[in-house]
Amino acid sequence: MAATILYGTEIAKDIREQLASEVEELKRKGIVPGLTVILVGEDPASHSYVRGKARGCEEVGIRSEILLRDASISEEELLQMIEELNENPNVHGILVQLPLPSHISEKAVIGAIRSEKDVDGFHPVNVGNMMIGYDALLPCTAHGVVEMIRKTGTPMEGKHAVVIGRSNIVGKPVSYLLQRENATVTMCHSRTVNLRHYTRQADILIVAAGRAHMIGSEDVKPGAVVIDVGVNRIESGKLVGDVRFDEVKEVASYLTPVPGGVGPMTITMLLKNTIEAAKNLAAR
Ligand code: NDP
Repeated sequence: MAATILYGTEIAKDIREQLASEVEELKRKGIVPGLTVILVGEDPASHSYVRGKARGCEEVGIRSEILLRDASISEEELLQMIEELNENPNVHGILVQLPLPSHISEKAVIGAIRSEKDVDGFHPVNVGNMMIGYDALLPCTAHGVVEMIRKTGTPMEGKHAVVIGRSNIVGKPVSYLLQRENATVTMCHSRTVNLRHYTRQADILIVAAGRAHMIGSEDVKPGAVVIDVGVNRIESGKLVGDVRFDEVKEVASYLTPVPGGVGPMTITMLLKNTIEAAKNLAAR
């Protein structure tokens, strides 16, 4: 039987309605959640992601601003901007769109954001709190992936989840969050020998390698939940995932499309983090 397609756009819509009512409630208390995005340089993909984030904010009533800076901005100037936003009581979330030009240290920039305003969930304090199991602003894509699986109604407990990719922004946090849901997690990466040996065992398969069409039906256990995080632009200009959608949909029980799968969930989790940050900062 063909897989049920998990449209992130639809799942996100339900969550965004809930978030919009939380924003209404905060506004009644005089709190207007605010997100500031710093966008450095002209990368078209980054500009497109940031526009998506701003649209998401508008949809749920979050005040958002985009601060555009030339790629020649110095690290010092950028750190100064972050410092000012850290102090600004109307700004609850600060997001510096990655990647940054090579003369700027991502480590320094992420570390400079006040952890309570780190709505990407990349600050070492948030990463550490997440690992220990304390309250934390969670990395948006990883959180979005887990919420999508939850929506399928598939219990994660006791399932074998295989994650392809071990980056700090996707692979590592998604592995950790799945383990927190009591799944048994295997992490694979570019040095994994015989990848298929692992992927074929997966009840839940998360593919986040950034390699167009690398996973086909032969790699997937029949009935698996397959979440395709990859976003790759191929020669024709089309955006495709890491999974061969048409093949895998004949084998999997659930499958996410690209685009329209994980992407909208990532933005929704960013909105959720901004609202959470506003609540936490107001309670201080
Ligand atoms: P990175 O390039 O940082 O990490 C890729 C990971 O995949 C690495 O751990 C790498 O292994 C592993 N990998 C690469 N090739 C293979 C292979 N052939 N077999 C097994 N493992 C492999 O990418 P990101 O984690 O930042 O992003 C992954 C994908 O997800 C990209 O396509 C990106 O565009 C997309 N993405 C989508 C988002 C969304 O909202 N939809 C958000 C963020 C990312 P190693 O560590 O050994 O190098």
